[in-house]
Amino acid sequence: MTSAGEHSDPAISASSRWFRCPASVQLCRGLDDPGNPAAAEGTCAHELAYEVLTTGRGIKTYIGHYFNGIKVDEEMAEYVLMYVEMVQSYVEMGFELYAEHRVYLDPVCPGLFGTADAILINIKTRELVIIDLKYGRVLVHAENNEQLLLYIIGALNEFGLLFEPLTFTAVICQPRQHHFPQATYDASDISAFAITANEAFKEINDPNPKFVAGEVQCKYCLAKKHGVCPELNRQKNIAVYGADNTPALRDVNALTHDELAEIYPSMDLVISFCQSVKEKVMEDAARGHPPPGYVYKPTGGRKGNRVFTDVKKVATLLKGWGYATDAVAKASLLSVAQIEKVISDEHFKKLEGYIDQPEGKPRLVKDDRGDETLDDSDFD
Ligand code: SF4
Repeated sequence: MTSAGEHSDPAISASSRWFRCPASVQLCRGLDDPGNPAAAEGTCAHELAYEVLTTGRGIKTYIGHYFNGIKVDEEMAEYVLMYVEMVQSYVEMGFELYAEHRVYLDPVCPGLFGTADAILINIKTRELVIIDLKYGRVLVHAENNEQLLLYIIGALNEFGLLFEPLTFTAVICQPRQHHFPQATYDASDISAFAITANEAFKEINDPNPKFVAGEVQCKYCLAKKHGVCPELNRQKNIAVYGADNTPALRDVNALTHDELAEIYPSMDLVISFCQSVKEKVMEDAARGHPPPGYVYKPTGGRKGNRVFTDVKKVATLLKGWGYATDAVAKASLLSVAQIEKVISDEHFKKLEGYIDQPEGKPRLVKDDRGDETLDDSDFD
């Protein structure tokens, strides 16, 4: 198996970041990546999957074994088995498997390489499939997923001489969320993506690459974690000090319409920054370094509501002690969606007059009509 730590700079797995913010690559170079427990667990799951796929040994025989310093438990074995079975189902259909296979992206992105979890090719049906195991819980989409599309280009580099695939399928296998989306492309989609990838890759090597802040790219960016991103700092400063250094953290009713318009796009960044500060302070405190003047208490905060751990058992006990059901329990209808599933269509239609659905809350969306001037017809 190719070591999980081996990848080019930038990494294919970070492509959702550098496709959107080219400057992040140069800025993150050399920044310390402390890693995290979720990433270590993910590596363990990948190593386990590779072992099972390549040795043919039953996954349960690995329970209690360690991969990447993490012990395989029943839960992990169960989830990883879903990925293994998904891969094996393609093999049973006649696909040839290349597990944990290194792919190279030259000449589209010179020097870029990475390891695809599973490449499956079927020369007869002219199909190429990439399956990516995601062991985390944050949902990952398959449609236009840059990482998987780059693996497809890498796989084409190697197997394209052997056969000319007609269909390309990118599959996300996220067993802990029972989430298995897939996207299918044809050769023209892949060619178009190769051009986009080539342009994005050129931009990261530009002497003055662009900073583009946004939710997707900034989320796990090391520059954000280390607080060294000039673009985020600029936006935070605007939110806190205003563009002309007039402190913005003042009575919100005293802010002008223009000041509000200036601050608004940066608010999410400020909120996420404050949230990160809170998490980091708690993390440090749990490691024995609370902020001066504070003492860390692992428990003792405001407790949540009390709950019965075994509702059935409690109900039986109460009944046995002679309490009437309507004195200790309340009957409530299932939700509309649940009722729809358990009753006939005919009866559900008859309930339509008793169903209400509140409007969604108002929200602000980006006006993507550029600088077009609004006229009366826009409000027809
Ligand atoms: S924090 Fe966001 S804007 Fe800054 S370098 Fe990273 S991705 Fe780009």
